Amino acid sequence: MKIIKAIIILLSFLLAGSMLMYVRKYCNNSNIFQQKKIEFNLQNLSGKKNIIPIAVIGSGCAGLSAALYGARSSIYTVVFLGSQPGGQLTTTSYVENWPGTVKSLGSQLIDQTKKQAESFGAQMVKDTVETVDLSSWPFKLVTQDGIECYALSLIIATGSTPKILGVPGEKEFWGKGVTTCAICDAPYYKDRKVVVVGGGDSAIEEATLLSSFAKEITMLVRGDSMRAAPSMQARLAQTKNIKVLYNTKITKVSGNKEVTSIEIENTKKKQIENLPIDGIFLAIGHEPNSKIFKQFLALDSHGYISLAPRTQQASLEGVFAAGDVSDPEFKQAGVAAGDGIKAALGAVNFLKEHGFNDEIAKKYEKNFFEQKTEGPFIEIKTIKTIAQLNQILKSNKKVVIDFYAPWCPSCMQMLPVVSAVATSMKDKVLFVKNNISDSPVISKHLNVASVPWLLVFSNGKEIARTKDIMSKRQMTNYLSQILKISL
Ligand code: NDP
Repeated sequence: MKIIKAIIILLSFLLAGSMLMYVRKYCNNSNIFQQKKIEFNLQNLSGKKNIIPIAVIGSGCAGLSAALYGARSSIYTVVFLGSQPGGQLTTTSYVENWPGTVKSLGSQLIDQTKKQAESFGAQMVKDTVETVDLSSWPFKLVTQDGIECYALSLIIATGSTPKILGVPGEKEFWGKGVTTCAICDAPYYKDRKVVVVGGGDSAIEEATLLSSFAKEITMLVRGDSMRAAPSMQARLAQTKNIKVLYNTKITKVSGNKEVTSIEIENTKKKQIENLPIDGIFLAIGHEPNSKIFKQFLALDSHGYISLAPRTQQASLEGVFAAGDVSDPEFKQAGVAAGDGIKAALGAVNFLKEHGFNDEIAKKYEKNFFEQKTEGPFIEIKTIKTIAQLNQILKSNKKVVIDFYAPWCPSCMQMLPVVSAVATSMKDKVLFVKNNISDSPVISKHLNVASVPWLLVFSNGKEIARTKDIMSKRQMTNYLSQILKISL
């Protein structure tokens, strides 16, 4: 009898203990996630222009999947494509873990999802949301091109940005040998020596991609093992021109016009050595792009947007987040797509719960945001030879040369921006472009080491060059300042 009593007491303790843990867990979650209510009052819409029932910021897997589900629910959905349209999948090569697709190019998957969302009416806007005001409803969004919009619900799918090392020389040689995009820059390193920093899946992906161009690739892993998936490590083992140095970190980047060497430290042996090298590819993870939301939403200690358990709901009613900006753990394309779908369904339910229906949509339809059709743009002349370059530089106008390559996603993104700016500056500036994979002689002559690059000339002399990915407004401001012209 005593034994039975003891067992019952023990079981009661265990039960009470686990109940306490359960309660703690959910109390903690609700503490992290104190959702703020908004005043959803349709009267607030009166007099407002550029209204968007579902606004999606970002166009990677998460944003486009959200757009697909939002638009397919017959709710007007607008996607702000952002500074890297298509997101990180456009900078990867083949994707083998997208369910239902054995192997496909990342850019193809993105293109198909975008077309699928557009086929249901999603609007794609080539602009970046620069600031938000989520302190009142509807939520105000201001874009780089200066458009003010009012979102009835918001899906944040802004992804993340590659981390950098923060060592001396890294910034100085950025774009001159230091890069985070193998798919963009690998062809420049044909028969050369490069290092890839990192031991995750991205680092292996970059190293294996580089292996068909570079002569010798050294992976620098800071710990004594890699965290990449076993299947990826097996792929690495089959590639002959890649070697791995463990317990190794870069302490300094050196060079002249471009990178020529790095200082590396073996952290176990405390040995420092100089390694002659032509290129450094960083693949050391990403930081969530959540800065503009910080003031309004709960973020975790690493800056990821906090979500209510098992939903994509952020800490403010009507605001949802999806993909890498809210995912500290998985960071997979498929997971981001699933997040985007959940976020869109959440936004649709939110709008319906607050009485948004076809009738109201019709009432405000004339005030919905509509993208202005741009153009027609002037045609930008292509130059291929040094003779053509010299001829152009004799022009009495200022000259801008856009160096691009068809395999470079950022270049493809810049071309329409360059066309738009060239059109607005046509009386004062002569724009030309050069496809460096078709005719590399000009880029070699002008020491252009990667793409995209924009070179600016006045009186036949180079006065500036930039590798920045810019919006139309940013490029207009940049060139107006440098060339001292007003439009
Ligand atoms: P990870 O966070 O997985 O890996 C980052 C790597 O960089 C780690 O090896 C880390 O070292 C190292 N690192 C971080 N900071 C530094 C530093 N300051 N100096 C040196 N090394 C540093 O990022 P990934 O971008 O590789 O992957 C992100 C996610 O995307 C993962 O979930 C991955 O599985 C996924 N992915 C999947 C792909 C695929 O399936 N084909 C392709 C690419 C990515 P340490 O381990 O010591 O922290």
